Amino acid sequence: MKYPCVHIAIKGAVQGVGFRPFVFRTAKHFAISGWVQNDASGVCIEAVGKVSDLEKFISELQSSPPPLARVQSFDVSDLPPREALSGFAITESALGEIARVDVTRDTAVCPACIREMNDPLDRRYRHPFINCTDCGPRFTIIKSLPYDRPRTTMAAFPLCDDCKKEYDSPNSRRFHAQPICCPECGPKLALLDGSGSVIACADPLAECVKLLSQGKIVAVKGLGGYHLACRADDRIAVERLRQKKMREEKPLAVMVRDVRMAEGYAKISDKERALLESPERPIVVLAKKPGSALAPNIAPRVPTLGVMLPYTPIHHLLFTEGGMPPLVMTSGNTTDEPIAFTNADALSRLGKIADAFLTHDRDIHIRNDDSIVRVAAGNPVFMRRSRGFVPDPLAALHDVQGIVALGGVLKSTVAFGRGRMCYVSQYIGAVDTVEMLDSLESVASHFMDILEVDPGLFVCDMHPGSLVRLVPKKADIPFIAVQHHHAHAVACMAENELSDKTMAVVYDGTGYGQDGGVWGGEILLADHSGFERMGHLAYMPLPGGEAAISNPGRMALALLYSEIGDAAKAACPWMNDEEKAAVIEMVKTGTQCVKTSSMGRLFDAVSALLGVCTKRTYEGQPAIELEGCADLSDIDEYDPSTSNRNNVVLISGGKIAVQAYHDFSRGTPREKVAMRFHRTIARATAIAVGKIAHMTGCDRVCLTGGCFQNVILLEQTMRLLNDLGSLVFVHRRLPPNDECISFGQIVIAGAKRIAPSVN
Ligand code: ZN
Ligand code: ZN
Ligand code: FE
Repeated sequence: MKYPCVHIAIKGAVQGVGFRPFVFRTAKHFAISGWVQNDASGVCIEAVGKVSDLEKFISELQSSPPPLARVQSFDVSDLPPREALSGFAITESALGEIARVDVTRDTAVCPACIREMNDPLDRRYRHPFINCTDCGPRFTIIKSLPYDRPRTTMAAFPLCDDCKKEYDSPNSRRFHAQPICCPECGPKLALLDGSGSVIACADPLAECVKLLSQGKIVAVKGLGGYHLACRADDRIAVERLRQKKMREEKPLAVMVRDVRMAEGYAKISDKERALLESPERPIVVLAKKPGSALAPNIAPRVPTLGVMLPYTPIHHLLFTEGGMPPLVMTSGNTTDEPIAFTNADALSRLGKIADAFLTHDRDIHIRNDDSIVRVAAGNPVFMRRSRGFVPDPLAALHDVQGIVALGGVLKSTVAFGRGRMCYVSQYIGAVDTVEMLDSLESVASHFMDILEVDPGLFVCDMHPGSLVRLVPKKADIPFIAVQHHHAHAVACMAENELSDKTMAVVYDGTGYGQDGGVWGGEILLADHSGFERMGHLAYMPLPGGEAAISNPGRMALALLYSEIGDAAKAACPWMNDEEKAAVIEMVKTGTQCVKTSSMGRLFDAVSALLGVCTKRTYEGQPAIELEGCADLSDIDEYDPSTSNRNNVVLISGGKIAVQAYHDFSRGTPREKVAMRFHRTIARATAIAVGKIAHMTGCDRVCLTGGCFQNVILLEQTMRLLNDLGSLVFVHRRLPPNDECISFGQIVIAGAKRIAPSVN
């Protein structure tokens, strides 16, 4: 008797995630015969069975794939009816054809593994490297494709007989789970002192817990690098860590045992809870609970707290002993350096900081920091996208094969084109030193290995001085330059699958403008191949260039002076007369004074004018503290000061700042002034967008740029634009800051390659 037969092709991240055993089990369940195997682009299936069983089989495959799978396409085609096959089989694919598939993300150890780890009768009881098909390290241990144990850093650990049985059995939770191991055959933990000598002890974990409890700093090896850990309720330990890490005031992330523990320190919404408990396990920025027992120097001067839950078995074991308070878990580096991920590098760079190392012999192949998200307007906004999300691809909407985009300068990422998909790398950091350029190049070569992409075209920022321009030069491969804010605009557009002309409000710190100015408060009308600058923040003086960025008071004084002249001298009382005179001289004569339309600098200036943040110790601090202090209940606004000149809409940040300054000088609390300033910027933006919509007929607006990590600014602007009837789009999968630049660059390069004459 003949039965209907179908061929199913499933593309996406479906290898190494337990997809074939899932298909196998599902086929058994619905009495389907046939086979499943990996192929060049994913998984293919031939299935024979009764019509109703086939339908149920297909719908089950579509509706409940394994947790780590990311299905891009699911195509079913009919084959001629045939006899039923004898059972269902997982068949081996021909070697070499399983290359062009997606590497999956690193994920937190799953609940089933945690149960085993806590079960004294299980052979993996308290095993610090437990994982299965649904969980564990992937991206950070893979050296090349196909994804197979010999090509991971687990190659050094041959499977024991028991593990091999699980690995080979389709009925096991660990069927073909490449990184599996057990206490018998797996890596081993070790506790070292600050100089790298082994601390003799029966149980490195228990000993580590003891050191942490005593207030010591321990470097703990994680998935994508080392953390520096210490008790988060111990002010002295935290202070010591800050001094050694040279991190003055930037908030430190905290790891807690579970959500219940987190609730003692922060307010948690349902959305935030889901993010905390997600397999991606990002750091979630939460509202602090006042009066909690955390050390006040964890996140000084801001009302928020970055919290994450344990995501490796080692993290869980640190907390299972009981009694462990929340732990600071900050990246293992000194400020402005890349996170340490090899054992040798960690010892040499963190030895000065850590009292001990909790380490092991499973190598991390590539560094990958923690991701950071925050909920705004009811949805997560990425502050940093790294571990847990990389390397999930994004649709580039063009053929971008072989294009490699090198990103911006400050919050760098690199992006790789394969077919019509774009792979954005993990957060790399500020690529302004040779060390950071090395870090970028090692990330780039890792991606080219796992994606098997040969670069044919590089994309760089338009800034002539950017260090990444060395990369195409060294490789002798052509490059094109893309304007920074155009890349922002197109990144947000492409994420939302927009390709027709769209308005983009791009508010950030710095980007090289086509007129040589420092842009950063831009309203563009953009498509993938070009843009028009329809509006911007009116130019402001940036006295002494970079010096004004680390010293927001200078920016404040210069801005005020250019608006109200000598009356500005009364502002910024903490600056001495000499410094004030020097700044004013620069503005008067224009020497060492660059012009800027940067929204980031305007926020810096106002933060300083109100005395909120007068000295910047980390990037974004003045704006973060200005947002942090704002009184959300205040509903007053200043005059939004917009004007038209030659069909370009200008927002006068200077006039808005002067109003804020006068309001503050009259004795209004700075919390209220801060809120009014935020609301006024949102109002001015909406007015400008309305004017441009009227001129162009375009009602779509993208919001992008690092300033839109400011929740008040984002929510207020979205509210006003919605009221205006605009269709508002924001980033969902990438951060709005410069981490999205490489994606925009790739889409633009893809569009220009098709139509090279378009400028
Ligand atoms: Zn698991
Ligand atoms: Zn084993
Ligand atoms: Fe930017």
